Amino acid sequence: TEFTSPPLDGLLLENIKLARFTKPTPVQKYSVPIVANGRDLMACAQTGSGKTGGFLFPVLSESFKTGPSPQPESQGSFYQRKAYPTAVIMAPTRELATQIFDEAKKFTYRSWVKACVVYGGSPIGNQLREIERGCDLLVATPGRLNDLLERGKISLANVKYLVLDEADRMLDMGFEPQIRHIVEDCDMTPVGERQTLMFSATFPADIQHLARDFLSDYIFLSV
Ligand code: AMP
Repeated sequence: TEFTSPPLDGLLLENIKLARFTKPTPVQKYSVPIVANGRDLMACAQTGSGKTGGFLFPVLSESFKTGPSPQPESQGSFYQRKAYPTAVIMAPTRELATQIFDEAKKFTYRSWVKACVVYGGSPIGNQLREIERGCDLLVATPGRLNDLLERGKISLANVKYLVLDEADRMLDMGFEPQIRHIVEDCDMTPVGERQTLMFSATFPADIQHLARDFLSDYIFLSV
């Protein structure tokens, strides 16, 4: 396929083939080498551009190659069990989070990566039980993720990839304080260990400001 330069992980390529994606869209083609080279990314891309693959492909390819990171020792009793995702994707709405999760499930098929989704406006119980069974890639709306952080159910200490999808819509919906709180929480991870990727349809002043605050030495991509 045309997904081979730079080479994506073999299992991921098989899953891409199962999804019947034969050719990368422009955002997918450009984001893979940028992320593989360890860079932060600010991508301006519309819905329908294939931007979900644009962040899932490089993140999953690297994750499949690297394997699981060691989990912290003391996990306590079942009810104190915390999830330590290595990738966190924030999205503005339940609908978008669910769409991203559905794609993530397709592309993590038969891999070590377990994907979960959490969003507000829905009882937290089932979401809690799901993440207690393990969560490597978490798709979340900002409010519900903050709730889970405050309950001590999730730690961001292992986050290697933080993705903000449709950042402009998240700001329009008033999620900026929650997003800042989550990013600050991630900032406690050792410097240089985390990559941050932002996707937005538009690039107004407030998004430029977030990019300056959250990204380090980033590459700007517009497709
Ligand atoms: P997105 O912009 O990520 O929401 O993707 C829009 C739609 O295009 C979704 O239904 C994807 O499953 C589909 N899609 C994304 N990338 C590709 C690709 N490389 N080949 C075929 N379909 C794709």
